[in-house]
Amino acid sequence: MTIRLASPLASDSIVDGEGLRTVLWTQGCNLRCPGCHNPATHDLRGGFETSVALLQIQLSQIRLQRGLTLSGGEPFLQVAPCATLASFVKKKLNWDVWCFTGFTMEQLQSDEKYLPLLREIDVLVDGPFILAQRDLRLRFRGSRNQRIIRLSKTSIP
Ligand code: SF4
Repeated sequence: MTIRLASPLASDSIVDGEGLRTVLWTQGCNLRCPGCHNPATHDLRGGFETSVALLQIQLSQIRLQRGLTLSGGEPFLQVAPCATLASFVKKKLNWDVWCFTGFTMEQLQSDEKYLPLLREIDVLVDGPFILAQRDLRLRFRGSRNQRIIRLSKTSIP
């Protein structure tokens, strides 16, 4: 199984969720939010392709992380590889999983194709970046419409 990434795994982040985290920057996003902080990740054919198996080896070698953060780009455009990696770090490394998405929680809950990844996520930061609602004081979010949602098994169909 392969995945398209914008950059290599980045460990030891303290700004992409709670605790020390490794970030997976997925490549590709269709939303094109005006003012997006990371437009280089939009092109669905940009970045580079790598194997999930190789990423699993790399993740296993990273120490002292609390979790994995899926960001991008739009992780929900690559449900299968992202879900595989999320499941791997939870089961094998005992990490938690955060995910930053431009979709809302309601959009993800109502479409079956997103559920395999949604079920692996502990904390979802949802919604598009809206320039008119930009607020630099927000923790882990760019605009006021975005929410930090702690998921439980009951919140996902
Ligand atoms: S969803 Fe995120 S990556 Fe996609 S355009 Fe909006 S801010 Fe940028």
